[in-house]
Amino acid sequence: MRIGVPREIKPAERRVGLVPAGVTRLVQEGHEVLVESGAGEGSGFDDDAYAAAGARPATQQEVWEQAELLVKVKEPVAAEHGFLRPDLTLFAYLHLAADRPLTEALVAAGTRAVAFETVRAGRTLPLLQPMSEIAGRLAAQAAAHHLQSNAGGPGILMGGVPGVAAARVVVIGGGAVGTQAALAASGLMADVTVLDASGVRVRELTDLMGHRARVLMSDEHVLAEEIAGADVVIGAVLVPGAAAPKLVRREHLPTLHEHALLVDVAIDQGGCFETSHATTWDEPTFEVDGITHYCVANMPGAVPRTATRALAHATTPYVVRLARGPERALAEDPEFAAGLNVEAGRIRHAGVAAAFPDLP
Ligand code: NAD
Repeated sequence: MRIGVPREIKPAERRVGLVPAGVTRLVQEGHEVLVESGAGEGSGFDDDAYAAAGARPATQQEVWEQAELLVKVKEPVAAEHGFLRPDLTLFAYLHLAADRPLTEALVAAGTRAVAFETVRAGRTLPLLQPMSEIAGRLAAQAAAHHLQSNAGGPGILMGGVPGVAAARVVVIGGGAVGTQAALAASGLMADVTVLDASGVRVRELTDLMGHRARVLMSDEHVLAEEIAGADVVIGAVLVPGAAAPKLVRREHLPTLHEHALLVDVAIDQGGCFETSHATTWDEPTFEVDGITHYCVANMPGAVPRTATRALAHATTPYVVRLARGPERALAEDPEFAAGLNVEAGRIRHAGVAAAFPDLP
């Protein structure tokens, strides 16, 4: 099969769909791989590295027009919609329920579109998980940074020092994001508490955290008690398929430490603090009632070298299976087939169909 990897053209996106090791693997299986010049630059892979792995350098047009399987990171932007065609399989983050123009373009073109974010493996979403893990660790780093006075913060060292208290960090939601946020914050010697609403997860986290963090079953009262006086609150809840519940409301803000910092990682699902709105890396924070809010919606975008490698570890085995034949790969694995969003001019995913009931 001929596999194409274009350079991402969405603003500020520096990740790439395949790393040279993935190219080597596909070439060894007898496939041809076209990589657009400069595609890996932002992630630390130059054109020579791809050529050495066996890729053929190509222009944007050659990649899109010659590929039978196109592997990228973010959904095609408007300038790429014209490249969609019926004999193409697209494998990328798509988020179609929030993107009517792209859904219409994929349906009209008859492209087979497999979305990273809806591929399942047991209880997890394996192609979303690595980005959540990155966002979790970054949440702790961002908190440590914004507590410093040179960053406009109150001038607190996250881990304190012997004789001076560490910052009190409360993590709400102990899934992929929350676990890594708690581990990273405890690694910085903060005083960490994790709250989760799932009894199963609370038990797993208790074993995992040991003495590194307190783990508590969350309810409205426990949450209010724990965030009172906190220096940092990290929001990391997810109710699959739903908007994030507003767990910290405006009336809670005066109960926090007067210079507290809220980090709302769940902002891409609308945020779990009532006072949140999405921000960017250019201007990551804003204040409400004296409380700093950090709500960057694409946190992994700041670490493309790490994020591309983590993403490729997760996606490449699926690329290899698609390259052997997409029909068979999807037919023999229902969890992989959960990634199929559009095929042959029809929406094939229930969530996307519910968002656009008027489309076929
Ligand atoms: P996850 O499913 O692994 O974990 C979510 C956890 O929240 C679960 O353990 C669940 O039991 C818990 N939870 C649900 N409702 C709760 C409640 N009311 N109180 C306490 N806990 C509750 O999800 P995840 O992968 O960790 O993702 C968390 C959020 O972070 C999602 O909204 C995800 O989209 C977002 N995210 C954002 C970025 C970013 O750049 N901002 C990056 C990656 C992920």
